[in-house]
Amino acid sequence: MLIVKPLTIPFKILMDSALLNRLPQHHSKIRFIEDDLTRRKVGFRGEQTLLYHLGFLKDDHYLIFFDLRLQFEEYFFQIDTLILTPHFILIIEVKNFSGTLIFEKHSGQFIRIYQNKEESFPNPLFQVQRHHFLLENLFKQKNLPTIPIEHIVVISNSSTYIKTPSDNLQLYEKVLHSEKIIHKIDQLSRKHSQIKLKSSSLKKISQFLLQNHIPVTPSILELFEIQREEVIKGIQCSSCKKFTMIRKHGKWSCPFCLAQSKNAHEQAILDYLLLIEPTITNKKCQDFILLSNRKIVTNLLTALNLPFSGKDRYRKYHLPPVEYFQDTI
Ligand SMILES: [Zn+2]
Repeated sequence: MLIVKPLTIPFKILMDSALLNRLPQHHSKIRFIEDDLTRRKVGFRGEQTLLYHLGFLKDDHYLIFFDLRLQFEEYFFQIDTLILTPHFILIIEVKNFSGTLIFEKHSGQFIRIYQNKEESFPNPLFQVQRHHFLLENLFKQKNLPTIPIEHIVVISNSSTYIKTPSDNLQLYEKVLHSEKIIHKIDQLSRKHSQIKLKSSSLKKISQFLLQNHIPVTPSILELFEIQREEVIKGIQCSSCKKFTMIRKHGKWSCPFCLAQSKNAHEQAILDYLLLIEPTITNKKCQDFILLSNRKIVTNLLTALNLPFSGKDRYRKYHLPPVEYFQDTI
């Protein structure tokens, strides 16, 4: 396989973590943010599990795209994983439910039983069918080469029990555990044995998908209805966690525990970009890290190698792409 668009940590995980760290301990929204963070981490782990299994696809004619967000007319849709081959396209919706999953036949209801609790969720099969429909129409609208599209739901947790009535066993063709993904792709390759795309068309579709991916950087404060004044300013001490570090002799030092740091400002600046707004000026940075010295702040900002726009005092430093954060987790 060839990964064209790699799996990256979702921005919302970085944002949730940064926000939890910068809210007062007893803030009323903490519980919701923690729940959201857990849910997103579980989801990300599910995609990592799938990536592991896809690693067994040795052939380079499988082109893999993670987290594509596309638009057809007024509809945005996010495809967890898309596999493009010369024979067909496979859309995969990844779910990381634990417990027992029941797919009702007639009602189309989707029920999860976990820790003796029964809950109904939107049926992921309908979701992936919708993505299929939208992708097909998008391809038609843009006059892209015609290729069969297939869709499946992958349940990443291998101990999850997938249940459906005995007269609905064809469901297992569409809903499967991630360990079965290679077997499924084999089966689809046999079904679509005819080559539909030559390499120039593959390249065309591949470029189309990358160029039409619309990334979204949500405002996490708006999402949780939190005012920016509630976010704690300052440089955090990595030892005692207080936001009180001060600049002394080219270093940050903590007046409480006397810890010192050379780069404690980095997290603060990234926190601003993740939480407050996706660009920062020198002035706003001074205000956020509580250091009113334009020259030092210029040096600190420049050293971070962030993307920027504008000149001199109009310079804005931008939230870097998510790959920038890969090393920080
Ligand atoms: Zn300290």
